[in-house]
Amino acid sequence: RAKDKGRDQYDFYTETLNERAVQLMSLERELRQALRHDEFHLLFQPQVDLNTGDITAMEALIRWQHPERGEIMPDEFLPVAEDTGLIMPMGNWVLQNACMQIKLLHQLLGRGVRVAVNLSERQFRDPGLQNIIEFALRTSGLEARFLEIDITESMLMDDLHSVREQMARIQSTGVTITIDDFGTGYSSLKLLRSLPVDRLKIDQTFVRNMPADAGNTDIATSIIAIARQMDMAVVAEGVETEEQEYFLKMHGCSLVQGYRYATPMTFDDLYHYFSGDNDRPRELKA
Ligand code: C2E
Ligand code: MG
Ligand code: MG
Repeated sequence: RAKDKGRDQYDFYTETLNERAVQLMSLERELRQALRHDEFHLLFQPQVDLNTGDITAMEALIRWQHPERGEIMPDEFLPVAEDTGLIMPMGNWVLQNACMQIKLLHQLLGRGVRVAVNLSERQFRDPGLQNIIEFALRTSGLEARFLEIDITESMLMDDLHSVREQMARIQSTGVTITIDDFGTGYSSLKLLRSLPVDRLKIDQTFVRNMPADAGNTDIATSIIAIARQMDMAVVAEGVETEEQEYFLKMHGCSLVQGYRYATPMTFDDLYHYFSGDNDRPRELKA
């Protein structure tokens, strides 16, 4: 009996593995098609300075509008895109479109605002990255100081020499460099100091149960202290409550991003948000 049961479990296991493999293959095929058929779009989420009330930047976040399944979130398709290499054309598309749309926003508003674009691991390792960034800036007409490149802390854990070289190349384009999801990796302060980093973004897991969860709260306050010491700006993401906002502000982090201020929104809503005829995006009204 025990043996039979073991075999059944084994069969069940291989079956679900096969199902998973089939799912991944069809996802890959669908992603290729989605790229050809232009099924992706960008949403933008503002970052706010609590001291002035100004919007200091917007983060571009990719969405997939699937013809049958509706909107698909990046966590569902980015891992497959990364594994298959499809992230390269997809990432170029994101960079190019983020620059073009923000340039258009500048023209509509008559003033500049920064856009933050997330890079994937594979994009960060690409020796051609500098050219890709420069191309996106040149063809969109966006000034480099209005583009921010977000890489995650885990990407720094590679061969240090190439990480440093790549970051120097990115820096030479004149864009801002932010370390995203900071606090989740294991980078040393020594490493951080040796890299051309402009800002740190506190991962939302450290903000979530603030200040009730003492461990996470301590990590957040340490990151704020490190940023200040190294003369970097620090942004907290995933801010949802007044309590979190109060705590962050008290501890010297006045740059925030989260549902409390605005959800990621379409370009149209972003324009209305900025032009002040609705000073809140539509989805936050009523
Ligand atoms: P991220 O860069 O850390 O982005 C922040 C995520 O938190 C976004 O999820 C955003 O919608 C969500 N968020 C914002 N405010 C709140 C809040 O108050 N509460 C909570 N619970 N969540 C909040 P999203 O859009 O699903 O993106 C997930 C991740 O996918 C991003 O994390 C980023 O790593 C990646 N990603 C998104 N767009 C791109 C892209 O164009 N290229 C690459 N390479 N990665 C992307
Ligand atoms: Mg990000
Ligand atoms: Mg993050």
